[in-house]
Amino acid sequence: MNDYVNITIDDRKIKARAGEKLLWVALDNDIYIPHLCAVREKERSNASCRLCFVEIEGMARPVTSCTQVVREEMVVRTRSTRIDRLVKTAFELLLSDHNLSCRECPANGNCELQKIAKERGLKLRQKRFKAIERDHTVDDSPDEFAFDPSRCVLCGRCIWADREEAGVGAIGFANRGINSVITTFEGVSLAESICTQCKLCVEACPVGAFYYKKDKKA
Ligand code: SF4
Ligand code: SF4
Repeated sequence: MNDYVNITIDDRKIKARAGEKLLWVALDNDIYIPHLCAVREKERSNASCRLCFVEIEGMARPVTSCTQVVREEMVVRTRSTRIDRLVKTAFELLLSDHNLSCRECPANGNCELQKIAKERGLKLRQKRFKAIERDHTVDDSPDEFAFDPSRCVLCGRCIWADREEAGVGAIGFANRGINSVITTFEGVSLAESICTQCKLCVEACPVGAFYYKKDKKA
């Protein structure tokens, strides 16, 4: 098997490592594709955020680039009317119950939602989908960090860091669908749980949900 394959993304010829997922090849070559839930080291992506759609020549429908392995002579488009529509809808759904208060948010200026909005010309404040009422109590029990569920986009990156990088397993998803939340398995505060406070979840969070207390602006 060849170590590399030749693909085309947005008319650019690219040499990609065989077996690599399309999303990472694009990003490594400075071609931005919106993404929130993907983790490079993860063998099988959940493709749950529905943001990384692309069109591939020969395929009838747009596909998620985090799940597509590159193959020889693959021809990819990262933008089209269909893709832009899909990404816009997924983005608006994600933001429908998001506590949008960037000025008070510790992630302001370093937030993946802000980056997606800027790159794709999308609005952070949206009115299309009705917000769902939830309990959004902040857990500030750890010494150096806190968790604000009102800013969580349910990407699952913190869970992956907790389980696979830290090897702890203190947090996970509870409930299903639109009622999903990140919580400790016992439903107790992080300080009362088996969390070791290694802070890998904070490093993994692409928005202002897990954050360092010292950075908190309000
Ligand atoms: S997580 Fe991002 S979009 Fe949400 S309030 Fe914070 S900075 Fe703004
Ligand atoms: S807390 Fe952050 S990393 Fe964890 S699921 Fe929510 S947005 Fe993703």
